[in-house]
Amino acid sequence: MLIYFSALFMNHTPPYSHPEAPDRLDHLLRGVQEAGAEIREPAFREDAWRLVELAHDKSYVELVKKLCEKAPAQIDGDTYVSRGTCDAAVLAVSAIASAVDRRETALIAARPPGHHAGFVGRALSAPTQGFCIFNTAAIGALYAGEGVAVLDIDVHHGNGTQEILYERDLLYISTHQHPYTLYPGTGFPEEVGAGRGEGYNVNVPLPPRTGDDLYIQAIDEVVMPVLKQYDPRLVIVSLGWDAHKDDPLADMRLTLKSYLYVFDAVLKMQKPIIFLLEGGYNRDVIRRGTKALIRLVDHGEFAPGETQTETDHHTRNKYLEVMREVKNYVGRYWRL
Ligand SMILES: [Zn+2]
Repeated sequence: MLIYFSALFMNHTPPYSHPEAPDRLDHLLRGVQEAGAEIREPAFREDAWRLVELAHDKSYVELVKKLCEKAPAQIDGDTYVSRGTCDAAVLAVSAIASAVDRRETALIAARPPGHHAGFVGRALSAPTQGFCIFNTAAIGALYAGEGVAVLDIDVHHGNGTQEILYERDLLYISTHQHPYTLYPGTGFPEEVGAGRGEGYNVNVPLPPRTGDDLYIQAIDEVVMPVLKQYDPRLVIVSLGWDAHKDDPLADMRLTLKSYLYVFDAVLKMQKPIIFLLEGGYNRDVIRRGTKALIRLVDHGEFAPGETQTETDHHTRNKYLEVMREVKNYVGRYWRL
C-alpha cells in the first residue's frame, strides 16, 4: 500500500500542549516502518487551492490564508493555525486528488484533520471546528464525483463532511459515539440527506462503551449492506483511531479488531480505498493500527493483536434502542 507523507504535514504546530500535534505522525511512520510500505511525497498541485473551493466558501478560504500569514492564531478554542498550516492543509488536498487520479489503495498520512470543517468552517451546530481546517475527505469526494462513498469511522461525527455532501447523491456513512454524549452533537439517524442527496447520508450513532461485538454487528447489519448496494467505484475512509478503547478523548470500547474488521469488509469489495487520517490521540494505537492496516492490505494478515471486547448489558440495551431507530430511517432507502 502506498503511503502519502510529507514532512510539511508536521509544520501544523500547536501554540500550546494539544492532543492534535505533529508527533502523531511520528508514531504513524513507526507503524509504516514496522509493516514495511512505500512512502511517497505528494506533489503540490497547481489546482489545489481551486479544489479547496469545491467544498469551502471563498470567504472561509481567504480567512484561513490570512490566519496563516499572521500565525500563531486561533480559529476557535479548539482549532489553531500556525505558519505551516496552509501548506500542510493544501498539500493534503493535493495528496487526495492525486490518490483519486491513481485509483489505487493508499493511506494519506496528513494533518491537519478535516472532517469537522464545513462549508464556511464551523459546521452545523458545532461549538468549534474540532482541530480541522480543510475537509480533505469531502474535497476528495467532490473531486472524484459520481460513485464515490465516504465511510467515516472516526469516533466523532463528521459534521463537516455531512454538511458539504448533504444534498449530493454521494454516499456518506458515519459510525460514531452518540451525539448526546460527544462533540460535535450531530449525527442522528434522522439526518438522511436532502434533495438529490436524500437517503445518501447514513448515521450510525453508538452508545458510549460499545464494544467490538456490537460494533461489528452494526457494520454487518447496516454499514456493509448500504455500501454494497451503493456499489462505489472508490471509497474514501475517514480514518480516526479515536474509537479505540484507549483513546483519551472518547468513551468507546473498540480494539483494533473492529478496525481490521471494517477494513477487511471494505477491501473485499475490491475497489480502490483511500484511507485518510482524521483523529486518534493515543500514539501507541496510531502506530499499531497503522501497522495492522498495512499488513492487512499488503499481506491479507488479520492480526489485531488485541482480544475482542464485549459490550456490557446496560450498553447493549441502549445499542438495541438506537439501532432500531437507525434501521427505521436507513431502511426507507436501503435493503437491510
Ligand atoms: Zn475524532
